[in-house]
Amino acid sequence: MKILMVEDEKRLAEAIAQILKENNYLVDLARDGEYGLDCAITGIYDIIILDIMLPKKDGISVLREIRRKKIETPVIMLTAKGETADIVNGLDSGADDYLVKPFPTEELLARLRALGRRKGELMQDGIVQAYDVELNPNTLYMSSQSDSVKLSAREFQLMEFLMKRNDMVTSKNMIIEKIWGFDTEADEHIVEVYISFLRKKLSCIEAGVEIKTERGLG
Ligand code: CA
Repeated sequence: MKILMVEDEKRLAEAIAQILKENNYLVDLARDGEYGLDCAITGIYDIIILDIMLPKKDGISVLREIRRKKIETPVIMLTAKGETADIVNGLDSGADDYLVKPFPTEELLARLRALGRRKGELMQDGIVQAYDVELNPNTLYMSSQSDSVKLSAREFQLMEFLMKRNDMVTSKNMIIEKIWGFDTEADEHIVEVYISFLRKKLSCIEAGVEIKTERGLG
């Protein structure tokens, strides 16, 4: 799961990002509304955590523009205590949930899980399935009908992303942005290396799926 967090309070943002990472989420941070919007409209995030009071562009405006551009990523709004009007406004503008600051991190994690479930991409217990291959996020095991193999966290994220994209062509740039993030040193070569790991593991478990390369496309 990849999360975009748009929050200008540096300490709060970093503390939450740290906790999310410890819970196996990938997190990108944006410190103002304009940059947050630029990130959000790429559509690569599974959930967006969006503060309301932000420099350059407020969270409600960001949310409205995201929805106007038909980006349906679930959004959790963050609001300061007592700003009831903001909450109503946020929900009316297309937010899926909200949290009043300060909030217990356990609550944020629970809301994220709930939104992840609602998103409908994940099956029971978060297991992802495509053809005869199943991914279990709790154990990081990839299984076919005959065998199973453990994946590294990175391999797991990549395989999950590819499986959710199903038969669509996925460019290496999309993969890098989704799995490694925008500000990464990772290049196309790394993607190729990970794809080759995954192909080996798929053949190891005699899976009925394959990862194809389309020359010049992805
Ligand atoms: Ca703020």
